Amino acid sequence: MDTGIVIVGASLAGAKAAEALRAEGYQGPVTLVGDESERPYERPPLSKGYLLGKEEKEKVYVHPADWYERHGVTLRLGTAATGVDPAGHTVTLEGGERLPFSKLLLATGSAPRTLPVPGGDGDFVRTLRRIGDSEGLRAVFRPGARVVVVGAGWIGLEAAAAARTAGAEVTVLEAAELPLLRVLGREAAQVFADLHRAHGVDLRLGVEVAELRADGVRLGDGGTVPADVLLVGVGISPNTALAENAGLTVDDGVRTDQHLATSHPDVFAAGDVANAFHPLFGRPIRVEHWANALNQPAVAAASMLGKSAVYDRVPYFFTDQYDLGMEYTGHAEPGGYDRVVFRGDVAGREFIAFWLSGGKVLAGMNVNVWDVTDPIRELVRSGRPVDPERLADPAVPLAEL
Ligand SMILES: Cc1cc2nc3c(=O)[nH]c(=O)nc-3n(C[C@H](O)[C@H](O)[C@H](O)COP(=O)(O)OP(=O)(O)OC[C@H]3O[C@@H](n4cnc5c(N)ncnc54)[C@H](O)[C@@H]3O)c2cc1C
Repeated sequence: MDTGIVIVGASLAGAKAAEALRAEGYQGPVTLVGDESERPYERPPLSKGYLLGKEEKEKVYVHPADWYERHGVTLRLGTAATGVDPAGHTVTLEGGERLPFSKLLLATGSAPRTLPVPGGDGDFVRTLRRIGDSEGLRAVFRPGARVVVVGAGWIGLEAAAAARTAGAEVTVLEAAELPLLRVLGREAAQVFADLHRAHGVDLRLGVEVAELRADGVRLGDGGTVPADVLLVGVGISPNTALAENAGLTVDDGVRTDQHLATSHPDVFAAGDVANAFHPLFGRPIRVEHWANALNQPAVAAASMLGKSAVYDRVPYFFTDQYDLGMEYTGHAEPGGYDRVVFRGDVAGREFIAFWLSGGKVLAGMNVNVWDVTDPIRELVRSGRPVDPERLADPAVPLAEL
């Protein structure tokens, strides 16, 4: 008997999975369990348009409010799932209620890491993950406010850009020599350092944070940085507790195969939490980006319904900071590439960077250059060797490489 499909995690991946199940023609019960009180919404605007007050709240939701009822999807919001019994096919909710399932999707996403220093878990420390975090920051990003951001990753930099745009005085503290150094490598990371400094951010690199306090940050060298607003953006960790306690294989996320099935055949995972085997790379990768949470659920839904589906999309993400728009297509890990090739005007921030290994393009990042993700994706997917000189030459169409 089909007891229905339960999805834990009511955000982008969870909502898209519910949508895909109905699109596939599934008519059984679908229950979407989420511990946030908001219906599923998208997070990218929380550090961009919504944080800046340029985007309306209604625009951030994945579906209109009445969509769930119209599609027979039961929303259990403000309710955490506290346990999963794969063999017994039940999910336990806080309060003790048990939901039976035939198939279960874990779409529990990820949560901000805390800084392991004194004060790192203080209630004056802000993070940016949820809609309320964004609204709280918007209220305090004011002209003259002293905003200190710890961590120059994507979220930290986008928040810094929003704070500067709102007229705040912004200091960014980063332990590495450059922002985004691990993800982008030295050459491309420098672009983001220059961008923020050009917009008046006091970007301090190679800095050790020793303590967080309500009135600012104490540094390893004994110096202090006063703060009215203290935001920590030092990365995220996948929410794997449910899976771990259920005995599923967890290794930097919930491990799945290319169909997004976990180590239990009736339990699937998608989005930030999934460390999914990727056929193109021949190994599992965990992607903490919007496009992955948008597209994996269709494959998970088809797989849950017993159809043959494989997730093999080339990873993609984007950022917007001040007047810089960027898209990144592919997957290049630190130490995994041997050359970076630039095409275009790097100083003018209008270029494409390519990460290569053995002459093959692993990833491409277009900065203020548009409509090139299709040929970049094709270059990555084909794995064909390219001539670096032609790759660097804007006169050579990407499709002809
Ligand atoms: C501020 C911000 C800006 C971003 N900007 C970009 C961008 O520009 N480009 C880009 O590509 N990506 C961006 N991302 C990343 C992107 O938003 C994530 O990859 C995406 O949200 C992942 O979706 P998800 O559904 O897998 O997980 P999440 O969005 O993390 O959602 C998981 C949900 O599950 C809930 N949950 C967890 N455990 C339980 C439980 N036990 N019971 C019930 N509910 C539970 C969580 O509270 C959460 O609501 C950004 C993220 C943030 C936070």
